[in-house]
Amino acid sequence: MKFIADRMLGRLAKELRMLGYDTVFYRGEDPYPLVKLAREEGRVILTRNTKLTPKRPEDRIVRIMEDKPSLQLRELIQSKIISLHEEIPFSRCLLCNIVLNEIPREEAEGKVPDFIFYQQKEFFRCPQCSRIFWQGSHQDHMLEKIERLKTLG
Ligand SMILES: [Zn+2]
Repeated sequence: MKFIADRMLGRLAKELRMLGYDTVFYRGEDPYPLVKLAREEGRVILTRNTKLTPKRPEDRIVRIMEDKPSLQLRELIQSKIISLHEEIPFSRCLLCNIVLNEIPREEAEGKVPDFIFYQQKEFFRCPQCSRIFWQGSHQDHMLEKIERLKTLG
């Protein structure tokens, strides 16, 4: 499943990328290009906009009801739009939405902080922005969050 998230849903877009979902973040205000891109690329639209409704049978629009960005991912899981088993977490660049390539460990030396280099076994690079990622780099308690979400059932 691929997504396009509207401008109200920046955090959700980033969290979906962390989970491995192909998610475009649309920053514009005009909903027309959003709908057009969703159709062209077969993406499910995630929006907070109540006026955005399906116009064609192929339009798939999921309205996010939750105000709090920290709870929006949970809403998608509870409504069974996504599951935690479909994609590979931490496999995608958070900035470019592109699948990362694993690189030989020695290529990361000098490009990441020394303590990270000695701590980590696997490194990944984004083919677009060349940023290097490792398990913990995707941030902030996301692993814990995934574990908590798994207990939702
Ligand atoms: Zn990137």
